[in-house]
Amino acid sequence: MKKKWLFANWKMNGSLLANQALLESLMAAAPLDARASMVICPSFVYLPQVAQLTKNTAMGLGAQNVSEHGQGAYTGECSASMLKDVGVQFAIIGHSERRAYQNEENALLAAKVDAAVKNGLTAVLCVGETLEERDSGKMQAVLIAQIDAVLAGKTYSADQLVIAYEPRWAIGTGVSATSEMIQAAHVFLREHIATHDTSLAERISILYGGSVKASNAAGIFALADVDGGLIGGASLDAAEFSAIYKALLNPAG
Ligand code: PEP
Repeated sequence: MKKKWLFANWKMNGSLLANQALLESLMAAAPLDARASMVICPSFVYLPQVAQLTKNTAMGLGAQNVSEHGQGAYTGECSASMLKDVGVQFAIIGHSERRAYQNEENALLAAKVDAAVKNGLTAVLCVGETLEERDSGKMQAVLIAQIDAVLAGKTYSADQLVIAYEPRWAIGTGVSATSEMIQAAHVFLREHIATHDTSLAERISILYGGSVKASNAAGIFALADVDGGLIGGASLDAAEFSAIYKALLNPAG
């Protein structure tokens, strides 16, 4: 049985007051259930605050990025061991906004996954194609390159690595991929992971991200190869995010 996950990517949003209010509303609206884990990923500066507020709860804590380096003269960066030190368990790596705005490429992201896992974090690797890549028939080649960079010569367990399929054109646009597109991409990813490691392919969780809302979540989570979601915009609204969590628990309705 693969694990089910719901990640809240708060991106560069929040404040001490707003974070506390959002978490309190969320905890009241969506009591956590052992069948699906919820992980909150705030901006770096708020990780200690969210660690404190979620301390005696089942909510997990994730960072939105991690350095590939261990320590030293890397101004503005944050290492995996520092994240671990303040209670972080997960690191989102290769989010499309970082690929697009920080020009993060596959080789660098592979080094980040390695650094995260070596320090006991679970890496949440985001993969996905642009609209242009999809339209020109390059989607599979793009996904292969994104996965191969991370898995070539490495062995990770399903506790160390989670994949989030996030078509770039569906992130923050309000336009989600169709069920057919999502299911096909997830099957393709799992089959491709199996070319590296059949045991990992059987166990690894593959999440979908891209304009998931309360209104479309149940349909997406009912898909056979979708093991949860990475949610951006809708995770900033407690009612919306708790409804998405409930849809993950009961995708059939
Ligand atoms: C994301 O940030 O990973 C994401 C999927 O954003 P949104 O849900 O807003 O599309």
